[in-house]
Amino acid sequence: MTTTSPTVSLARTLIGFDTRNPGGDESACIEYLCHHLRDAGFTVELSAFAEGRPSLVARRGSGDRPALCFAGHVDTVPLGKAPWRTDPFGGEIEGDRLYGRGACDMKGGIAAMVIAACRVAPRLAANDDLILVIVAGEETGCLGSRHLAEHRELLGDAGAVVVGEPTGNYPLVGHKGALWLSARFRGLTAHGAMPEKGDNAVYKAATAVGRLQHFDFGMPPHPHLGGPSLNVGTFHGGLNINSVPDVAEIGIDIRTMPGLDHNDLTRMIQDCLGSEAEVSRLIDVNALWTPPEHPWVQTVFRIMPPFIGETPTPRTVAFFTDGAPLQAAYGGAPTLILGPGASTIAHRTDEFCPVSEIDAAAMIYQRIAEQWYELPASD
Ligand SMILES: [Zn+2]
Repeated sequence: MTTTSPTVSLARTLIGFDTRNPGGDESACIEYLCHHLRDAGFTVELSAFAEGRPSLVARRGSGDRPALCFAGHVDTVPLGKAPWRTDPFGGEIEGDRLYGRGACDMKGGIAAMVIAACRVAPRLAANDDLILVIVAGEETGCLGSRHLAEHRELLGDAGAVVVGEPTGNYPLVGHKGALWLSARFRGLTAHGAMPEKGDNAVYKAATAVGRLQHFDFGMPPHPHLGGPSLNVGTFHGGLNINSVPDVAEIGIDIRTMPGLDHNDLTRMIQDCLGSEAEVSRLIDVNALWTPPEHPWVQTVFRIMPPFIGETPTPRTVAFFTDGAPLQAAYGGAPTLILGPGASTIAHRTDEFCPVSEIDAAAMIYQRIAEQWYELPASD
C-alpha cells in the first residue's frame, strides 16, 4: 500500500462516489464534503437545482471583507463504451498516477482546494472571509453554478475566484462562452407523390442553414481568445422518404467572446433563421475573461514559478467552466482557472491525475490564500 498525503487520500475517497452525469448523482459526495468542511469550522449551505443534485457553499468569516473563493464541480462524465483497465471508482495509484473517473476532472482539484482551505482557515482573522463553492451538474452546462448564481444570496461576496479545473496547475485567464441552440421548423405532411399538398419543413430548415453559414457576428476578434464561431452540428428532418416532412430541427453550437451578450446573440440568430424558427437554448455559458494585468492575477503569477518552472504568460482554454456564471454573480471578480491534471486526459478511458500535481495544487491554493489574507507562507 502506497502512503499518500491527506489531499490524495481525499481525492481517492471522492473518486469512490459515483457522480456520473448522467448516470449517477452528486448527493452522497456533496454530503461527505459538507461534513468534512463543517468539521473544519465552515458554515455550509446546500442548494439543489434538482432532486439528488445538490451544490454546496462553505463559508467562514464575518462577511466584512471580500472573500477568496475556490470553486469546482464533483460531477463527472460517464465512463464511455471502452472497457477500463483500472476500476473507475477505485482510486488506484500506480507510480505518480491516480486513476479513476474524475481523477483529473476534477476530484483531484476539489481535494486540493478543500485541504488548502482547511489548512488556512484556522489561521484567519475573524473578519477574513473564505468561500468554497462545490457544485453539481457542471458537465451538462454549469447547471449547479447557474442555479447558485440565480440564488445570489447563497454565494455571498467574493473578491477573487479560483476554479480548480485541470490545467496542469497553469493559471489560465479565460475561455470562450458556449451558446448551444436548437431551432425547429414546422410544416405540413402530405404524400410524397403530391408534395404541392404539403409544406416541407426540411426546405425551410435548409434555407435557414444556408443563411447561417454566412452569419456575421459583427465584432472583431478578441486579442487572446480569437473570434466567435458558429457550427451547425445536427440536422434532423423527415420520417420516411415518401412523405413531405412536417418537422425539421437543427442544432447550432456557437462559441462566444467576452462582451457578446447571449440574449442579443439569440435575437440575431432568430432574425437570421426567420420568424418561423422556434429557437430554444440547450447550453448557455458566458465567456470568461480576466485581464492578465489585474494586480491579483499578477500576484498569482508571481507565486507560480516554483510550481511550474516559469512565470506564467496569459493563456486561455477551449472548454467552458463554472468560472463564467460565478464571475458574473460576483460582479466581475477576477477569476483564474488553475488545477491539477491535463485537460487532454479528462473525459477519457483510464482517466488519471498525477499525484504530484494534486499535492502541488493544494500548496498553490494555500499560497494564493496566504497572499490574499497577508499571512506568512507556511508548509
Ligand atoms: Zn470539469
